[in-house]
Amino acid sequence: MKCIAIESTAHTFGCSVVDGDGNVLSDVRDAYKTDKGGMIPMDVAKHHVEVKDKVIGGAIEQSGQKKFDLVSFSCSPGIPPCLKVGIKTAKELARKLNVPLIGVNHCVSHLTSGLLFTGAGDPVFLFCSGANTQIVGLEGGKYRIFGEAISIAIGNMLDKFGREIGFGFPAGPKIEEYAKKGKNFIELPYVVKGMDIELSGILTKAIQLYRNGVSKEDLCYSLQETVFAMLAETSERALAHTGKKELLLIGGVAANKRFGEMLNNMCEERGAKFFTVSLKYSADNAAMIAWQGILERDFAVKPKDFDSIDINPRQRTDQVEVSWK
Ligand code: ATP
Repeated sequence: MKCIAIESTAHTFGCSVVDGDGNVLSDVRDAYKTDKGGMIPMDVAKHHVEVKDKVIGGAIEQSGQKKFDLVSFSCSPGIPPCLKVGIKTAKELARKLNVPLIGVNHCVSHLTSGLLFTGAGDPVFLFCSGANTQIVGLEGGKYRIFGEAISIAIGNMLDKFGREIGFGFPAGPKIEEYAKKGKNFIELPYVVKGMDIELSGILTKAIQLYRNGVSKEDLCYSLQETVFAMLAETSERALAHTGKKELLLIGGVAANKRFGEMLNNMCEERGAKFFTVSLKYSADNAAMIAWQGILERDFAVKPKDFDSIDINPRQRTDQVEVSWK
C-alpha cells in the first residue's frame, strides 16, 4: 500500500508518500510566510496554487515510486479557500492516477501520526498548534476533548503578540529565542477554569506592557512561562482523571524546547512518560494525512463517486468516529 497525500488546511501546502507500514517515503512542503502581519486567507490559497505542482512533483520524485494505491487529503478543519485548493488538487491527482480518494480530519491526523512517530500507546494528547489548544484522549470510540483554550489558541496568541512586537509570521520560534534572554519574570494573567484555559487576557496584558516599555525579552520569557504552566497544570489533571500514564505533545508549538522541558518535569514527578513528536513532524505536514488515509482506506471512494467528497471547515476532533484499528 502506497498512499500519496495532500495537506492544505492553513499555511502549509504539503505532499507526502507513506507506505502501509508507516514509513515516510517522501515529505515535501512549502509554507506561506510573511515578514510582517498574519495570514490573509486568499493570499495563502494563492500561495498554495502557485506551489502545488512543484511540491507534488517533488514528493513523487523523492519517493522513487511510480505506482500509488490511494490519494488522501485533509478535508477538515481549516481555512476554506485553502481547503478548496486541497480538494481540487487531490481529486485531479486521484483521477490522473485512477485510484480511490479519502478525505481525513487534519487534527485527528496530528493525533494518530503522533502515535506512529513516537510509539506512544494510549496517551493524553496535548495538541498545541496555531488554531488548536486541546487536551484530548481516546475514550469510547472518539477522541474526546477534556479541556481547551476558550477563546484563542496558543499558537494564534503567540503569533498575535509577535505581530504586535514586530516579529513576522510565524512568531513562535522568535518568541522562544527572545524568551531565553529574558531576565525578569513579570506576573501575567494566569487563567485556568477547570480543564480549560483562557488566553485573550494574557495577550492584552502583554501588549499593554510592551506599549508601556517592558522589554521584548522579559515579556517573551514571562508569556511562555505562564502559558506553559497553565497547560502543564491542566494536562496533569487530565492524567490524574483518566489514569493514563503517557502524555504526548503534538502540533507546531511542540517545537518549543522549554515547553517540552516543563511537561517532561511534570510527567517525571507523577511517574508518567512524556512523548513529543520530532521537530520534523510537529507542524503541519502531509505525512500525517497519508497515514490517516491508510488507517481509513476502507472508506475511500472510487473516481466515479468523487462528487460525494467535500470539505468540512469546522469539523471538530470529537465529531470523528474512530472506526479504524
Ligand atoms: P492546526 O494544525 O491546528 O491547523 P496550524 O496549522 O496553524 O494549526 P501548526 O503548523 O501545527 O499549526 O503550528 C503553527 C504554530 O506553531 C504557529 O502558531 C507558530 O507560531 C507555532 N510555533 C512554531 N514553532 C514554535 C516554537 N518554537 N515555539 C512556540 N510556538 C511555535
